[in-house]
Amino acid sequence: MNYVYYIDRDRCKGCGLCVAVCPKKVLEISDEVNTKGYFPVYQAHPEDCVFCATCCIMCPDVALTITEAAEEMAQ
Ligand code: SF4
Ligand code: SF4
Repeated sequence: MNYVYYIDRDRCKGCGLCVAVCPKKVLEISDEVNTKGYFPVYQAHPEDCVFCATCCIMCPDVALTITEAAEEMAQ
């Protein structure tokens, strides 16, 4: 199963809660501001993400989501 990790940069307020809880140290705070003037989180090491969703559950602003990738049509 493939998953898509999505960060809604403009919902993120850069609080760092997700950075702290990620067991794989995937996330870091960006040095570029979003439209609200916050420094949003980004996946600095996406190859290490195990899609555990701990960060999504932790985020108070629902800025992080993981969805299943659409199945490819195999015909
Ligand atoms: S899904 Fe898990 S491994 Fe991936 S960034 Fe979030 S907390 Fe880290
Ligand atoms: S927990 Fe949510 S609001 Fe806080 S830095 Fe992470 S994505 Fe941004």
